[in-house]
Amino acid sequence: MTTPIEKVVREIRINPIVPSESVLVATARSMRPKKAEEPAPRDTRAHVETCPFCTGNEHMTPPVIAAYPAEKNWEIRIVENLYPVLGDDRSNPNLSFGLQQTIDGYGRHEVMIDHNRHGIAIHEMSEPHLALLFSVYRDRMEQLYRSNSRLRYVLVFKNFGPAAGASIAHTHSQVIAMPVIPDNVQAEVTNSRAFYRKNHHCIFCSLIDEALTFEATIYDRESGEIRRKISVGQYVIERVGKFIAIKPFASRYEWEVHILPLEHQSDFLRISKQDLADLARVMRRTMARLDAVLGGTQYNYFLHSLPHDADFEDCAASYHWHIEITPRTSIPSGFELGSGLFVNTVAPEAAAEKLRAVQIP
Ligand SMILES: [Zn+2]
Ligand SMILES: [Zn+2]
Ligand SMILES: [Zn+2]
Repeated sequence: MTTPIEKVVREIRINPIVPSESVLVATARSMRPKKAEEPAPRDTRAHVETCPFCTGNEHMTPPVIAAYPAEKNWEIRIVENLYPVLGDDRSNPNLSFGLQQTIDGYGRHEVMIDHNRHGIAIHEMSEPHLALLFSVYRDRMEQLYRSNSRLRYVLVFKNFGPAAGASIAHTHSQVIAMPVIPDNVQAEVTNSRAFYRKNHHCIFCSLIDEALTFEATIYDRESGEIRRKISVGQYVIERVGKFIAIKPFASRYEWEVHILPLEHQSDFLRISKQDLADLARVMRRTMARLDAVLGGTQYNYFLHSLPHDADFEDCAASYHWHIEITPRTSIPSGFELGSGLFVNTVAPEAAAEKLRAVQIP
């Protein structure tokens, strides 16, 4: 039994892991300060003569780093980024002065061409292909961490659609190995470590437990009356084998979904072959749900895993890797940029219910 979802939600929800990333959930139409992002028409072509990422145009990309299963019949191909945001080709002397502190832009920036079919969406890829893609993520991350001890974090992410920052329509992911740990990862890792020291368990595991608990009732201590009924299972979108997709209670984006391993695991690099198959399935099904509800999704997703860094060697029990999927359905408003407080105009419970209702083939 679930309680009906309230018509209008207006509350600030605190992100339990990173409280500074909290969100104003405001669902009344009149309160919406945001502009909708126009859905871009999807490029569904299988092959494009002029596309550097299409088969037959391999000479148009920067040098290949790796190809799977092989360069001549590749399904996934890793190449250098033509316009890297970080590169190892120049080593700037440290030019810090006063408050103008800098770290040189050392790093690696590579492109993974996800598939040889130009406009294929994630939910249209086969599960074996997705499992291969995730194993390529894992292997490349491992190689980059091993390649240079100055690299403190390897970030794998995907932009799909112009609103999500993809400048080339052909499906691709990117990997950036950097000399700093991104702020949001650092906050997650340090906050979850503090939670672990206090409570002796992983905060992500606790969130999964809460998501799987079906119902909770809060009683008024004095009168004994029911103050609030919470159907916590309402945040589960998908569950496959050892993985779960959840709609976070304090989602900053309307259709944001997180995928996590059900069993505690801090480092994505430790993922097993069986787990890759389950992850492929949960990812395909989750993306199919988003696509069905949003009608062609522009989105980003990114992988957060324990940094390979001496500062966080003690975080294996407290950190829990995950993939955050953030569809781009609205343009950030001045209020959001100025306050740092995201506004979500769709109640996460209503979004979860809609996503769960989709029939997946
Ligand atoms: Zn292409
Ligand atoms: Zn955990
Ligand atoms: Zn994260």
